[in-house]
Amino acid sequence: MTAASKALATEKEARDVAEDARETEWEHPSFARELFLGRFRLDLIHPHPPADEEEEARAKPFLDALKGFMDRVDSAEIDRTGEIPESLVQELRDMGAFGIKIPKEYDGLGLSQMSYIRAMELVTSKDGSLVALLSASQSIGVPQPLKLFGTDDQKRRFFPRLAKGAISAFALTEVDAGSDPANLRTTATPSDDGEHFILNGEKLWCTNGTRAELFVVMARTPDIDKGGRKVKQITAFIVDASMPGVEVKHRLRFMGLKAIENGVITFRNVKVPRDNILWGEGKGLKLALVTLNTGRLTLPAGCAGAGKQMLRIARKWANERVQWGQPIGKHEAVAQMLAKMAANTFAMEAVAELATALYEKGGYDIRLEAAIAKMYNSETGWRIIDDTLQIRGGRGYETAESLARRGEDPIAVERAMRDYRINLIFEGSSEIMRLFIAREAVDHHFKMAFDIVKPESTMRERLAAMAKSTPFYLTWYPTRWVSTSRLKSYSEFGRLATHIRYLERTTRHLGRAIFHAMVRYGPKLERKQAVLFRAVDIGAELFAMSAACVRARMLSQKGQKEAVSLADTFCREARLRIGELFRNLYGPNDENMYKLAMAVLKGEHEWLEAGIAGENTEFGNRDAEIERGAEKEPDGSDRREGALARAY
Ligand SMILES: Cc1cc2nc3c(=O)[nH]c(=O)nc-3n(C[C@H](O)[C@H](O)[C@H](O)COP(=O)(O)OP(=O)(O)OC[C@H]3O[C@@H](n4cnc5c(N)ncnc54)[C@H](O)[C@@H]3O)c2cc1C
Repeated sequence: MTAASKALATEKEARDVAEDARETEWEHPSFARELFLGRFRLDLIHPHPPADEEEEARAKPFLDALKGFMDRVDSAEIDRTGEIPESLVQELRDMGAFGIKIPKEYDGLGLSQMSYIRAMELVTSKDGSLVALLSASQSIGVPQPLKLFGTDDQKRRFFPRLAKGAISAFALTEVDAGSDPANLRTTATPSDDGEHFILNGEKLWCTNGTRAELFVVMARTPDIDKGGRKVKQITAFIVDASMPGVEVKHRLRFMGLKAIENGVITFRNVKVPRDNILWGEGKGLKLALVTLNTGRLTLPAGCAGAGKQMLRIARKWANERVQWGQPIGKHEAVAQMLAKMAANTFAMEAVAELATALYEKGGYDIRLEAAIAKMYNSETGWRIIDDTLQIRGGRGYETAESLARRGEDPIAVERAMRDYRINLIFEGSSEIMRLFIAREAVDHHFKMAFDIVKPESTMRERLAAMAKSTPFYLTWYPTRWVSTSRLKSYSEFGRLATHIRYLERTTRHLGRAIFHAMVRYGPKLERKQAVLFRAVDIGAELFAMSAACVRARMLSQKGQKEAVSLADTFCREARLRIGELFRNLYGPNDENMYKLAMAVLKGEHEWLEAGIAGENTEFGNRDAEIERGAEKEPDGSDRREGALARAY
């Protein structure tokens, strides 16, 4: 049965579910939110929140031990065998690496989010499978929502186990519910006595699922009636893998992260105590979103770690490799790549650490910064890996094992590329991150002026909306044209001051541009993803520039003067990208491209696919694949069962 033939949620249902789960209030300020409103609130991020020296001293012994461990880990072997040896997992447990942020009173290390992301950056710089194990457990697995939403009783029951190293997993995705949780089919039905919920369903791609002791499972509980409207309820449960009916159906294998413990997990009449509900009935999706706000701070730090590792590899090789009479790093094409890599790596770290520092500071709403950091760093890091592979030439494409066999350094750029790619997909794909950011970017205008531009509004609604919004727009709009801080020179930023002045001007420009887009398209703007996404990209570039500048200033005050030239180069490049995005904001070719895509979907250009292998074979012909042995191990055994057996 194809996905299209199943009763999937309609677009409206999908939007309703997402809207119901959305955090609508902005209790605390956010620099990024202000950016999209055309207001450059430098005071919210500058001076950069200072490092917590006491915390750094507390974290040092653990980070040193983790570094020593990572230096010893044989990542090539983990990649080759597709398994993380139990002895390594035990070593991590003994170090407290599964309870980094769990409070000390529950036997965790009690370290901060900043120390945690630094640990994950360190692990990512060498081993994707290990970081998946640790991070799925702690960024999205049980400890994080437990810390945010757990009752005291739940904390007492689960934290000590988790701190000792009970592996945990986060189970949201299903076959039809990837980016769209409205399609969730796993159900949790209250038992007759109301003390339990009976869980039934199947979760896909659950990281750590094959090894987890504890899961956070998102399931549909009975719909509720809200003013005559049926509202889907999604609830989060803590599920123990030992509960009867929990089963690992398949262990899944991927392009990279070869030893990730990821699987299809089934729940058949699993009796889960009501006490295991996290936060409250119907609050599961919101819980997932709030958990991810902080959870998403990890991945950008990991991407920065990967960027640093690539920079190190590219720098060494570009010095060492001589072609056409000089080191390749001196040929301009390669030099350009190197400069970009260094500047972008600096910006990635600036983005990840600023977002985390603002979170640590408290009284700050991190949701947009975290989403921007996830999207920006995962994409920037991907380009860095691609450039590193190019600089390494044929050696970049060759496996580390093969390089070693012929006596060369086993530098695993090929593995890094395989391991890294998923970062643009999980924890919210790049497109979903852009949608999430765009939704918040236009929210204020939609709330204020939606009824004015909505075609179906009555005259009365239009007038009411105008009365509500006019006072705001009378001051907001003119001041998006004229700087209110004209006299500010931002001289404390030295040679970066010019970029800060640009940021102030361009932020106002972005605010105007988003407003103009809303006036131009009205409610249709929601569907103009190409336009909205360019506006989001401008905002993300502005945030990255701001982060780079405030970090460079902080570092140069501490004596790291070189940071200024990295920030300067990054900003110059970002300004070029922003210029391009503004020039093409309304994408003169967007409509034509959309039409072509629709024609492609209809098969009007199938003729173009002639002359290729498998031309006449339908996709998804699983039976044929099984017949050909695609589901078989080299020894002839069933690959799925083999994998499952290995997982236990
Ligand atoms: C290795 C791995 C580990 C994972 N770990 C976990 C885990 O631990 N727990 C868990 O719950 N899930 C996990 N996932 C699932 C992951 O989060 C999903 O793959 C992701 O959410 C995307 O869902 P999907 O793959 O079904 O893509 P789809 O939702 O089918 O999307 C396909 C493409 O369409 C785009 N798209 C979708 N909707 C829109 C839209 N409205 N507008 C524009 N573009 C759109 C997407 O961005 C994507 O490019 C994991 C996946 C993998 C591969």
